[in-house]
Amino acid sequence: MSIDIQKIRNDFPILNQTIHGKPLVYLDNAATTQTPQQVIDAISDVYTKYNSNIHRGVHHLSNVCTEAHEQSRIKVQQFINAKHSHEVIFTRGTTEAINLLSFSFGETFLKAGDEVIVSNLEHHSNIVPWQLLETRLGIKLRVIPITDEGELEMDEFKKLLSDKTKLVAVAHVSNALGTINPIKEIIDLCHAQNTPVMIDGAQAIQHIKVDVQELDCDFYVFSGHKLYGPTGIGALYGKEEWLNKMHPYQGGGEMIQTVSFEGTTFNELPFKFEAGTPDYNGAVGLGVAIDYVNEIGLETIANYEHELLEYATEKLLTIPGLKIYGTAKNKCSVVSFLVNDIHPYDMGMMLDKMGIAVRTGHHCAQPLMQRYNIPGTVRASFAIYNTREEVDQLVEGVTRIAQIFA
Ligand code: PLP
Repeated sequence: MSIDIQKIRNDFPILNQTIHGKPLVYLDNAATTQTPQQVIDAISDVYTKYNSNIHRGVHHLSNVCTEAHEQSRIKVQQFINAKHSHEVIFTRGTTEAINLLSFSFGETFLKAGDEVIVSNLEHHSNIVPWQLLETRLGIKLRVIPITDEGELEMDEFKKLLSDKTKLVAVAHVSNALGTINPIKEIIDLCHAQNTPVMIDGAQAIQHIKVDVQELDCDFYVFSGHKLYGPTGIGALYGKEEWLNKMHPYQGGGEMIQTVSFEGTTFNELPFKFEAGTPDYNGAVGLGVAIDYVNEIGLETIANYEHELLEYATEKLLTIPGLKIYGTAKNKCSVVSFLVNDIHPYDMGMMLDKMGIAVRTGHHCAQPLMQRYNIPGTVRASFAIYNTREEVDQLVEGVTRIAQIFA
């Protein structure tokens, strides 16, 4: 199916500007995607038409706002094909979702000596919360090694899995390498021994159709701002049977049923995990972002981005001295590279002067950089509004910088 990328670009007002006198080429989508006018309008509508604290009001505005918030939960539920909308907990994003899970799952199910398995290619957000549990509860974090290509060493993973393993938490897609991990295989292996699995979907939700029932994952987390939605909103999906058993994360606001000084009882799902005034504005924006993605179609998005990735990979590899980090067979939307010994920051700053926005550094994946013994990489990451011409500009820019350094 052919798509009109110019029409899509017109939905994103931020793209239409010059940076340092050059047209903006935005290739930092793995950090955050830009926001279409439809989402901006929806957020503006909340503040101009029906802003009011949700759930507790009897008046009209509060009812309208509550309805909009809960409709967004249903949109998330349908987007990931969760069985129930109350299995969708709104959070500030992926990081908060993992912190919620590590705290609540840890308090409820983990004790000293238990093990949690992550992989060598995780974002810090899926490492540090578990390390905090090592300190607090005395659990042990085990790490799946990766190959030079950036794929998980599945044989090593099988060796790590034991009756001490109480949770496996891995990325669906690596933010620094673009590797798509074999999560279905991981989930099946874990379930064969009744170990639950959390998937960090921060880099997958915008590129790959996720069906949590088909995957049968126990938890799935993602952020709205990487899915063309606003910042400050994301979700934790959890199977009802786990969430019902887990201790609350934070106290206060809507998470209670009754409070007295003799004792407090907690609300039902999903509210048990949503203390305080939720970001209903962000939730509404996220719902409209999901509508936006659905309208184009995730499969169309994925196919188009895959073409861009292949084109970029092929073109970049023509630059002498350029090495790509992350050459897994199954990849999506990210190309990470270094050229000779040019520091990624130098490359990033010089590309910026050409109007090209890429991310440089460790990408919040320092253990992964240590694995490759590099300070970081230059990362270009693609979204539905990027074009081949922009890839050409990137390649031209990198070529020029390489020549200057030579
Ligand atoms: N996990 C992965 C794989 C990511 O790429 C990111 C952000 O880049 C995060 C977690 C953290 O997401 P957030 O900062 O939206 O909480």
